[in-house]
Amino acid sequence: MSLYNMDLEKVIHKIKAIKAQNIGLQFPEGLKIQATSIGRSIEKETGANVIISGDPCFGACDVSDSKMKGIVDLLIHYAHTPLPIKYDIPTMFIESYSDVKVEEILKSSLEILKNYSKIVLATTTQHLHLLDEFKDFFEDNGKEIVIGSSKNTRKGQVLGCNFSSIKNLDGEVYVFIGSGNFHPLGIHLFTHAPTIAIDPYSNTINDIGDFADRILRIRFGKIAIAQEVKKWGILVSSKEGQYRMNLAKDIKNTLNDAGMEAFIILVDNITPDILMPYLDLEGFVVTACPRIAIDDSNMYEGKPLITPQELEIVLKKRKWEDYQLDEILFHQRYEQ
Ligand code: SF4
Repeated sequence: MSLYNMDLEKVIHKIKAIKAQNIGLQFPEGLKIQATSIGRSIEKETGANVIISGDPCFGACDVSDSKMKGIVDLLIHYAHTPLPIKYDIPTMFIESYSDVKVEEILKSSLEILKNYSKIVLATTTQHLHLLDEFKDFFEDNGKEIVIGSSKNTRKGQVLGCNFSSIKNLDGEVYVFIGSGNFHPLGIHLFTHAPTIAIDPYSNTINDIGDFADRILRIRFGKIAIAQEVKKWGILVSSKEGQYRMNLAKDIKNTLNDAGMEAFIILVDNITPDILMPYLDLEGFVVTACPRIAIDDSNMYEGKPLITPQELEIVLKKRKWEDYQLDEILFHQRYEQ
């Protein structure tokens, strides 16, 4: 049984209301397993024809609206909140709230949090509906709770590339409730503050500090290697929510001014394979998803793959002590 509420009734109601004939469905990797059962129900209930996007999808930065344009009347994008970008076709976002139980793991987390009284809470789309419940629980147990907001994201929500909602908050510890280390690592690298990850899926509670230190050591190594690079590739993603061509051009100018060669390479998905033909390029700067360089680091062993902020350290325009995670902010998602 699925742990996620896929809001099938709402989808079917919408399809019938606009008399849509062709429906696009797009899921992140973890939910693709439900694609055919949802598609089957939609076709049975509405008579519409379902077309499933088979490409990888990791965020609302990568909605397949332009690929599905002219093919479907309505695209249903599952599991992410919309980003402030324009979509080419009518697109419905189904946020797929998780039904996972959190009571017991919240109780267990009180031990690791016993020395903190002021907590900043953060989570992802899947648990936003439980945020007030999380807050009430910790307040009932004597904690002061801070939940931030921003125009880029929902209240308390963080994305892997956007931590605006937790910026400049006054808390002793950041507590992330959700799946995996991906977001809490980002929170820690972004805030440099104690960060606790409460994962109700694996039933684990971790102080993310040691893990983050390991990642920072890897980043330090990549930056050291990158100091020898003289010929660069600058990677730009054609995905609308990751597209930062102006940033790439600025980087190219900066590298040229420093006497280095640089080529901008435009791609859809960044993988080790697409970098292979560029034998003479010695290193790459990623302006696409900021997490590729950090989280997929072990896939890129040969040549350094670094973020724009890491390049600043390489070029001595930023100190290592001021290491900062790359973000894709509101205005950058509109840039042409
Ligand atoms: S750019 Fe990366 S981190 Fe940001 S939403 Fe897309 S996949 Fe997630």
